Amino acid sequence: MLDRLAEIEALALEALEKVSDDDELQAWKSQYIGRSAELGKLSKRMREVPAEQRPEVGRRINEVRTALEKGYERREAYLRAASLEKTLREDRIDVTLPGRPASRGRLHPSTQGLREILEIWREMGFQIYRSREVETDQLNFGLLNMPPHHPARDLWDTFYTTEPGVLLRTHTSPGQIHVMRERAPEPIRVILPGMCYRYEQITARSEIQFNQVEGLAVGRNITFADLKGTLTAFARRMFGQEVRTRFRSSHFPFTEPSAEMDIECFLCGGDGCPVCKQTGWLEILGSGMVHPTVLENGGYDPREFSGFAYGMGPERIVMLKHRIEDIRYFWGNDLRFLEQF
Ligand SMILES: [Zn+2]
Repeated sequence: MLDRLAEIEALALEALEKVSDDDELQAWKSQYIGRSAELGKLSKRMREVPAEQRPEVGRRINEVRTALEKGYERREAYLRAASLEKTLREDRIDVTLPGRPASRGRLHPSTQGLREILEIWREMGFQIYRSREVETDQLNFGLLNMPPHHPARDLWDTFYTTEPGVLLRTHTSPGQIHVMRERAPEPIRVILPGMCYRYEQITARSEIQFNQVEGLAVGRNITFADLKGTLTAFARRMFGQEVRTRFRSSHFPFTEPSAEMDIECFLCGGDGCPVCKQTGWLEILGSGMVHPTVLENGGYDPREFSGFAYGMGPERIVMLKHRIEDIRYFWGNDLRFLEQF
């Protein structure tokens, strides 16, 4: 029996060295130290052992059991360490690989255009004056020299609210009245940016919402020469120092005289192309000397004060610069369009 015990010990420890994973380890355990293992059966056969040998056999059984249990624990610890090392080796993170960039948002092309325009005017000493988008009929039309039956009102097809006399502004010009009434009789140099709304059919060229940037200068001795000089300086900063400009007489109810400013087409250099409709010129903004009635409505005496105003559309300028053919892209929320800017 003692020989058999020595055999079992040797066999078991030898087999243990070959165990290479947890499944094998559990199989080994049930074979050598489990409930039905030979070792256990031997201890039940103690009665067959002659009385004088029993103490020694009993001691040996316990020794072998302890040796096998310790061997099991050692092997288990070894396997666990090996498996951890393997995991660390195989799942190692290569910190030298470039990271995945987080996708960043960006400014809407219309906001980019707006900011570029505002930055130029800011450098030229114009303050930004924000004005509300919901206006009264009086401020949107009446005080800007367009009384209820003035034919010019047809130009501004309007979104009216359910509140009588309250509408979505059709242009940024009501801001002129707000700022004049706030500042009179101090001189004014402001820029009025913001969204405007018109009840129009949506086409490639017209949208129901768009930004406008309007400028206003009011003070003593402001002349049409100031208007031309200031707007030309703006055009040079916006489109390049070499750009040529021209003024064409026009008509707006709130300015007198009025003029549209064109710049030489920067796409064809004035030779004529589809964008400038072969004229070599691009219309950029409308302008004029503030009408005496408007000055008066703003709280300035037109015999003492004068001023000029102008308005332009950032979307139109962005369209020209980037040759965008359809204004509907701006508010269509199509990322394929927006991500190009
Ligand atoms: Zn052209």
